[in-house]
Amino acid sequence: MGTEIRAGTATLYVVATPIGNLSDITLRALEVLRAVDVIAAEDTRMTARLLDRHGIAGKMVAVHEHNERASAERIAGLLAEGKSVALVSDAGTPAISDPGACVVAAVRAAGYPVVPVPGPSAVVAALSASGFENSRFLFCGFLPARAAERRGVLADLVAQTATLVFYEAPHRVVECVADLCVILGGERDIVFARELTKIHETIHRCQLAEAVSWLEADDNHRRGEFVLLVAGAPDVPNTDAVDFDNTLKILLAELPLKQAVALAVKLTGGSRNVIYERALALKAEA
Ligand code: SAM
Repeated sequence: MGTEIRAGTATLYVVATPIGNLSDITLRALEVLRAVDVIAAEDTRMTARLLDRHGIAGKMVAVHEHNERASAERIAGLLAEGKSVALVSDAGTPAISDPGACVVAAVRAAGYPVVPVPGPSAVVAALSASGFENSRFLFCGFLPARAAERRGVLADLVAQTATLVFYEAPHRVVECVADLCVILGGERDIVFARELTKIHETIHRCQLAEAVSWLEADDNHRRGEFVLLVAGAPDVPNTDAVDFDNTLKILLAELPLKQAVALAVKLTGGSRNVIYERALALKAEA
């Protein structure tokens, strides 16, 4: 699918665009943007800069994040007329912490082909240059702006062993990193991937305990766009799992699951999530 790109083929192309450096665009993406009948853009002015840079004169329509459903209907209408459409966001890959998913779902439901045209995404660029062992990572997008909600989300991630990846805005980065340190513990490593592919690109790795000081040491450290990557929780050694199992078996024989888990957490000092998962498994085995 997708080697031949022609106007008038009633196909939606989901096209990744640069995350800073306007040269970071694939040959195929340029080919698609040139060939399609319509370019559906998150912000037509942003996309116009990219098109100008590459000498493309495309017909654009806007896909507004606050009204993606209406945009989806409009795009499905264009496809129904036999037109081909390229969907782009302001930067990176559409539908990754950006509008796009609703349009893609509507177009698929209407039975038209959806063709991805892969390219830049800040999450993958940051992972590739982080030095973390990335066989498993969990992309968490933006954390909630409200502190209580943010801390709740982080508390649920304490036992996660995959590398954690967050997007964050500059005006919230200090409070977010302070919460990461308090809730995940100061010993884990964090990588700040800032202004990737741009003039002030910075990739800095340190322990969470030192992370707020690094941000506060220089105003520039807090400017621009950020991806934050945090090492996952250390794998729970098998011996601990056995200890949990013995404790849990005794408690589960006497108590309901919730109480047994709460007591096991107190007795062993282990992670609530890990113990809860083990308790479910033991109940299923029993
Ligand atoms: N769809 C985009 C993608 O594929 O990466 C993400 C869009 S999201 C609205 C914007 C966020 O992505 C920023 O707040 C920042 O966290 C991250 N981001 C985008 N460009 C970046 C860059 N050049 N350097 C670091 N982070 C970036």
